[in-house]
Amino acid sequence: MIALLYVLPVSGQSPAAYTSADIFLQLKKLKVLGSVLYFAAHPDDENTRLLAWLARERLYRTGYLSLTRGDGGQNLIGDEQGIDLGLIRTQELLAARRTDGAEQFFSRAFDFGFSKSTDEAMEKWGKEKVLSDAVWIIRKFQPDIIITRFPEDSRAGHGHHSASAVVAHEAFRAAADPNRFPEQFKYGVQPWQVKRILWNTFNFGTTNTTSSDQLKIDVGGYNALLGKSYGEIAAESRSQHKSQGFGVPASRGAQLEYFSLVEGDAPQSDLMDGINISWEKIEGGSAIDAMIDDILQHYSLLNPENSIPALVNLYKALQALKDGNWKKQKQEEVQRLIEQCSGLWLEATTGNEQAVEGDSIKITIAVNNRLGAPIQLNRINLDVLDTTLAMNLDKNRNVTLQKTLYVFTTKPISQPYWLEQKMSDGSFNVNDQLLIGKPQNEPAYQARFDLVIAGQPFTFIKPVQYKHTDPVKGELYQPLVVVPSSTVTTEPSVIIFRKNEKQKAEVAITVTANKRFTDYKAKISKRLTYDNSTKIDSNFTMQPGMQRQYIFAIDNGMLKDKEQDFVQAFVELKNGTEEQPAYLNLNNIQYDHIPHIHYFYQDAIKVLNIDIKTVGKKIGYIEGAGDKVTIALHQMGYEVTVLKEQDITPFILKQFDAVITGVRAYNVHDYLEGKHDVLMDYVKEGGNLIVQYNTSNFISSVTAKIGPYPFAISRNRVTDETAAVNFLLPNHPVLNYPNKITAKDFNNWVQERGIYFAEQLDSAYEAPLSMADPNEKEQKGSLIIANYGKGKFVYTGLVFFRELPAGIPGAYRLLANIIALNKKKGF
Ligand SMILES: [Zn+2]
Repeated sequence: MIALLYVLPVSGQSPAAYTSADIFLQLKKLKVLGSVLYFAAHPDDENTRLLAWLARERLYRTGYLSLTRGDGGQNLIGDEQGIDLGLIRTQELLAARRTDGAEQFFSRAFDFGFSKSTDEAMEKWGKEKVLSDAVWIIRKFQPDIIITRFPEDSRAGHGHHSASAVVAHEAFRAAADPNRFPEQFKYGVQPWQVKRILWNTFNFGTTNTTSSDQLKIDVGGYNALLGKSYGEIAAESRSQHKSQGFGVPASRGAQLEYFSLVEGDAPQSDLMDGINISWEKIEGGSAIDAMIDDILQHYSLLNPENSIPALVNLYKALQALKDGNWKKQKQEEVQRLIEQCSGLWLEATTGNEQAVEGDSIKITIAVNNRLGAPIQLNRINLDVLDTTLAMNLDKNRNVTLQKTLYVFTTKPISQPYWLEQKMSDGSFNVNDQLLIGKPQNEPAYQARFDLVIAGQPFTFIKPVQYKHTDPVKGELYQPLVVVPSSTVTTEPSVIIFRKNEKQKAEVAITVTANKRFTDYKAKISKRLTYDNSTKIDSNFTMQPGMQRQYIFAIDNGMLKDKEQDFVQAFVELKNGTEEQPAYLNLNNIQYDHIPHIHYFYQDAIKVLNIDIKTVGKKIGYIEGAGDKVTIALHQMGYEVTVLKEQDITPFILKQFDAVITGVRAYNVHDYLEGKHDVLMDYVKEGGNLIVQYNTSNFISSVTAKIGPYPFAISRNRVTDETAAVNFLLPNHPVLNYPNKITAKDFNNWVQERGIYFAEQLDSAYEAPLSMADPNEKEQKGSLIIANYGKGKFVYTGLVFFRELPAGIPGAYRLLANIIALNKKKGF
């Protein structure tokens, strides 16, 4: 009998190492048949201390279902937003789970940004869709209990949070109901009754929902096998959320967690009260339990391989049990333990980061039976490669195989499964039910090793990884990415035409070869709604990495009456007789704390044909935490100079019509505190300092003075991107010069209006705009302006950093007016 084990891909990580103590902890876990599903809305919502304690102290199978991938958060480490940020935070969550020992799940819900109500969240996500996903994950995972992070009401603080609790509660009922989502049953799940659902109440300082009559559990203990307390593991896990700046200190000592019953039997003194979590609940289980006790008793720290025969016997005994979730789960655990006890090394790597369709890669397979257990290697299978060996593996001898693998042109490119189809407004679309809930794709290629260990056949599956050695960082493993034979990019990202003026621009389409083309022929088409044109290029040899660029001219006449359009490129490629269309570009996101991220998208140039006037030419930009505002400023026709600390001097600043600070510049650059006088002198002499939002929260607050007169940065925001904008000072130049701003300029904004508005304004500030979220009071701090000397100072929480890259005409027109504030005479 062959046991198939699909190991969790640990892509981008060095293969995990297991000490004898780690193995002993996993052996103890074999005795526990309990499981817990933790439930919230975003990466970083989860209680990592509790998860670590559940997984490593209680040894429960522990999962975290984050409804979203955190696409709408703010990025503290780079300029990625939206989908890109969701991909980063997915990997941060997986890194956190590797630390605390829990498993990770997601629904198809998209994090569309801050939401103040459960109803808004449910409407945008599609309640039935998210509920179906939660029910599916519960039916697959079969938790004994569910724990939510949040309550179902406004004490949750964020509409996504309260909605996650509502979904958890409804899914608790629906998962057990054979009439709900019956279409799932054909995929192998059955109704599942969770015993109870609890809310893990909290004391976040501002809101305390704990009380002495709730169930209390101390999760602050120390795990001698790991050499860490749960507060220390939790800190390591939580500190993986680097894009959110959630590095936290480790805690030691007693740590009480509180739980309030939502539905099900009330627990008296423990989360699992009244729930059998031992082998007794399985027919024939007590014999299994005795075998595990025996293995634990005879386990040798110095010679873990001595346990292999007993583990193989245990595996066979499990095999004889009636099929069920725990049987499958424990067989997988035992197989992993056999691998770990034997110190077995199984690896498939390549020196290429990319597997290019129509090209080949060299694969190295390495096997080493490091402790000399009785192991025979029978066969290795990798895609179409199949090698039969039937060799005994000697102790600590390296067995290495080199193979060349052709990558078929039909091999699917490495696209995250939730990005394969066009997404809806508030959710991803995934048709394959079996993929739903998974944190990420299976690796592009996997090697299958058929072994016989102590007489029992086992199959181990390992991802093919890109392995290389960096002189500084050492040996690195990254995911292998399947890419098309060529990729296509377009430039620039935005073009702004002034309507009523005949204007021209050039666009560039670049084709990059990812493999060798011996006879490259291409038909390159540029497509704009009302104008398509093509160029033919042929008879070239292209080497991998070589590029050919094609320039097309466009003018605003081609847009007819359209205010917004976009240019896209399509390339028909032939190489000899091989034909492949090309239109995708590859996005690489690289950070050291997570595996490299890749996804494909069709590049496009946003073309705006709008009534916009600009005054002033030279802009100094002090970059903050990362945004794409400078690209937009270039397109508006300004000359932009990026300013570093040493550039912020009176002599350099005086040349600029305006100086703009990037998002959160005062949060990330402590040096700006010392530049206050220089910047104020620049304003006094007629300059215009425009400060985009900075945060004021538990992660980072600004202590530096920002403006010439006092104001405070609040946490006020307007998240409804359609909220009406009132013109409190309709004659103010910011609404009139050089562009007449009207309500239309606030149409089609994306995600939100603004964040971290100003408040407690000195009387010197003018606030020309007000806006409000539904049922909330008007906010006047989205844009504040003061005269100082001969110049102007502006603070704005309006989210230009989102609206400009999204090509929103009104955002461009309003920004042009803000930049022109010091040019209007008489004010
Ligand atoms: Zn959250």
